[in-house]
Amino acid sequence: MSVNIGITGAAGRMGRTLIEAIDANPQLTLAAAVEHPDSSLLGADAGELAGVGKNGVKVAASLEEVIEAVDVVIDFTIPLATLANAKTCAANGKAIVVGTTGFTPEQQSELENHARKIPLCKATNFSTGVNLCFQLLDMAARVLGDEVDIEVVEAHHRHKIDAPSGTALSMGGVVANALGRDLAEVAVYGREGQTGARDRETIGFATVRAGDIVGDHTVIFAGEGERVEITHKSSSRMSFARGAVRAAAWLISRQPGLYDMQDVLGFRSTDRTANLATKGEQTQ
Ligand code: NAD
Repeated sequence: MSVNIGITGAAGRMGRTLIEAIDANPQLTLAAAVEHPDSSLLGADAGELAGVGKNGVKVAASLEEVIEAVDVVIDFTIPLATLANAKTCAANGKAIVVGTTGFTPEQQSELENHARKIPLCKATNFSTGVNLCFQLLDMAARVLGDEVDIEVVEAHHRHKIDAPSGTALSMGGVVANALGRDLAEVAVYGREGQTGARDRETIGFATVRAGDIVGDHTVIFAGEGERVEITHKSSSRMSFARGAVRAAAWLISRQPGLYDMQDVLGFRSTDRTANLATKGEQTQ
């Protein structure tokens, strides 16, 4: 049985890559493509837009128009659009995969409320390699503990609108959780001027924005006389797209709840319907 997927933000960088990933997967069908109501691409053929050839799916101006045709929505847009789309999914009993980053804590709570009614899988990074890195980071933090200074360095293309990246925050969150620290209290975002000596408890974040970098992340564990660095480099958006479509196919048979890519990859087996009160953007 083929799973019918709806893509919101279909003309975006990720939207087009997702259409390509669905085209390459015989178990999935692109059933709908949605763009901003002001987009000049409304009515365009979604397959042509993504460079995979005509597929007869016309880009629609709202998810409501096409929701009946889809089993799962994959949303990589902007936070306000994602919230509206999650609401539409909740009202229609459809699952949603959320790739958008940059939610405020209030917006995050709103999403979590929708996850009480439908299966919702949200990850700041859908690549398999990054999700493996989350496991390696947890192990490194537990082994190296309070003996090291921890810094997260990330680099992305010049068009990215939020910083640090959602992935960098998730990496910081994994490390903070492993060490029993509260990221909100220990995070230091950039440094300038007379900063004073470094406090070992802190977790530093540094951001680079340049050119067409798809996404690089390094977490540095620096101690006396040695240093461990865990690095992930994305060279193509296809790594995110393949993970997101994998999540969509997995999500279809789940109970309502808030899931992430760690669940999809089987790294976690706890009941995700019970933890909605504690789950936050940084605790992937
Ligand atoms: P982009 O700007 O290229 O694409 C976003 C698209 O959403 C645009 O085409 C825009 O017109 C569309 N959009 C905006 N409002 C809309 C609405 N109301 N209805 C329908 N479409 C709407 O951005 P991008 O590089 O594709 O990234 C999108 C988001 O995904 C960002 O938040 C980014 O950080 C995130 N992202 C997440 C991952 C991950 O693995 N989780 C990977 C890459 C990017």
